[in-house]
Amino acid sequence: MEDVRRALQAACDAIIAAQDRLTRADQAIGDGDHGAGMARGFRAARDALDAATPACVGDLFKAVGMAVLSKSGGASGAVFGTFFIGAAKPLLHTHLTAPALVEAFAAGTQAVRDRGKAQPGDKTMIDAALPAVEAASAAPETDLGAVAAAAAEGARRGAEATRAMIARFGKAKTLGERSIGHIDPGALSVSIILESIAVSVATRDEGEVIDI
Ligand code: ADP
Ligand code: MG
Repeated sequence: MEDVRRALQAACDAIIAAQDRLTRADQAIGDGDHGAGMARGFRAARDALDAATPACVGDLFKAVGMAVLSKSGGASGAVFGTFFIGAAKPLLHTHLTAPALVEAFAAGTQAVRDRGKAQPGDKTMIDAALPAVEAASAAPETDLGAVAAAAAEGARRGAEATRAMIARFGKAKTLGERSIGHIDPGALSVSIILESIAVSVATRDEGEVIDI
């Protein structure tokens, strides 16, 4: 449980540290509020994680989602709040195993798709989240570190690939073809979150077992 808390705290810290980068990404194709909104939401999520007395790892993911949903504002509050609340569902009353992490990322991504209706290729965070789920599903299902690393790599590749896409959602939509060449800010956020989780999983104490 404590190593999952630390992994999620690291994800919050990574988003807070990336605020300026996310602002610049959203200034290029949106209204520039993504960095501030994400930092606000994930600062609240960090506080919630610090104070949480969870009964299971799902409670930690849910705490992040609820804080982001209520504090981020804008599209990203709904999108990233929905992602973490969706990801929490397969993790309620269970341990964080490699297959459970794949299921969690898949459920979070599906929840965002159900709510936001963005399709793959629409230049949203879905274009980082889906390749992350696909890569994680292909990783050895006994190896939590491999699953987390594959998800991070899939998200990184997916986020990079959004540069070639034309935005069909959010404020970037009005730019049409002028959105080409720029990374989608939400996809960049997914990549930052999954990368920090992967690093936390990889560097957890040898003697520590992530699923208790
Ligand atoms: P806003 O669009 O309200 O300014 P942000 O700038 O915080 O919100 O977030 C923009 C990001 O939200 C986009 O880069 C995109 O990845 C994500 N996003 C917007 N709409 C959707 C949607 N319907 N489905 C998935 N992601 C979305
Ligand atoms: Mg914006």
